[in-house]
Amino acid sequence: MSLRELVLGWQDQALCRHYSYGGVGEFYRMDLSRDDRTKLRRICSDCPVQPDCLATAMIEERDVGLVSRFGFRGGFTPTERHRLAKRWRYNDEDDR
Ligand code: SF4
Repeated sequence: MSLRELVLGWQDQALCRHYSYGGVGEFYRMDLSRDDRTKLRRICSDCPVQPDCLATAMIEERDVGLVSRFGFRGGFTPTERHRLAKRWRYNDEDDR
């Protein structure tokens, strides 16, 4: 197994890659309605690599603010991931 497969192999199993309406681009639309978000959340909840997807997003976005977060990743909107990062940071500081 190559390093790329080890690190990014999970992407081959991503359900959004096989999403028939709008493809993966649907997950990066800026104008998602509440219904759209519900629909995408359902897909992510059935995705076998959701934990890998969310972990990758959180690592890639660890040093950025809300305005630099894009897309619906790991079942979370940019705003939700931003809140999650703040909560995790707070808990880390609490553990020290
Ligand atoms: S969890 Fe990630 S990889 Fe899976 S469908 Fe959702 S956005 Fe795609």
